[in-house]
Amino acid sequence: MKIGIAGAGALGSRFGYMLSQAGYDVTLIDMWDDHVTAIRENGLLIDWNGEARNARLPIFYPHELEGSFDLVCCFTKAMGLDAMLSAIRHTLSAETSLLCLLNGIGHEETALKYVPADNFMLGNTIWTASMTGPGSVVLHGTGSVALENAGGDEAARERAMEVARVLSDAGLNAQYSPGVVYATYRKAALNGVVNTMCALLECNIATFGETSSAEAILRQIVTEFADVAACEGVELDREEVVAHVRGTFSRDSIGEHYPSMYQDLVRNNRRTEVDYITGAVSRKGKQYGVPTPFCDLVTLLVHAKEEIRDAA
Ligand code: NAD
Repeated sequence: MKIGIAGAGALGSRFGYMLSQAGYDVTLIDMWDDHVTAIRENGLLIDWNGEARNARLPIFYPHELEGSFDLVCCFTKAMGLDAMLSAIRHTLSAETSLLCLLNGIGHEETALKYVPADNFMLGNTIWTASMTGPGSVVLHGTGSVALENAGGDEAARERAMEVARVLSDAGLNAQYSPGVVYATYRKAALNGVVNTMCALLECNIATFGETSSAEAILRQIVTEFADVAACEGVELDREEVVAHVRGTFSRDSIGEHYPSMYQDLVRNNRRTEVDYITGAVSRKGKQYGVPTPFCDLVTLLVHAKEEIRDAA
């Protein structure tokens, strides 16, 4: 099976490396010059649970690609998905499956411009990865993937199950999971609270959670996610989601963690995925006539901070 990794940053490198170790024909695809050059010259340098590894993986710019892939796994940041799919559209045939495991919501609107619904699957993952520089990644711990087909027919379901089998074959612990849209909204609601607040307030999850404002902010943001999700036929269990988010505040849970939006904006001065988290709810709220005042404001504040910091 010929697999393209569209966006070979932290998580793309993990999936690309593990799939190649399982014997699949993997091609990394990226547009970051320093990263492409580093991997071509030195291979991908991996800190694998504390053990130094080096993987010689092919990496190409989109315009260099020839032929088509059987499976493309997307691991750009959310705001880079459209540009990536546009750049690799010549590699997407009628047979290509497209898997999107990006954080956030609304990616199907982008993906379905490039592939039919029957070929598209979305999901989420709790695998983690981080970059320490061009061509160098840290892959620690374990994780899992849940995915589901976007199109409704039996062939699409079979296709998604096959992709889950391929990922599991590579040790990625993937499940075909019909409830994935619900899970994606639930995870996005969590990110809508903790990622945005920690990036804006420059603190970890526990420090935000211990403020006297946290409960009111959490409740209102979850309510707005639930109101918009309901317009799309997804009935979030509001109290369960509130409890789920509140549970992350504990220092015994993941409270000491600085979420990815904090790391992108505060630590690395990079633009955030906010338009696909609270921004997506804000956008969808306008479309459905549902008020989303907190998500509107939070999204604007994150963008203002990106501008002030001149985030790239
Ligand atoms: P990433 O930023 O590491 O990689 C995304 C893209 O950005 C790649 O194309 C990469 O080459 C490029 N890039 C990375 N650093 C760059 C730099 N300094 N300059 C220019 N380009 C750079 O993103 P990621 O962490 O792999 O995340 C991909 C998606 O997966 C996101 O939607 C993210 O929210 C989601 N996700 C990530 C993790 C994780 O642990 N990393 C976990 C779950 C979900």
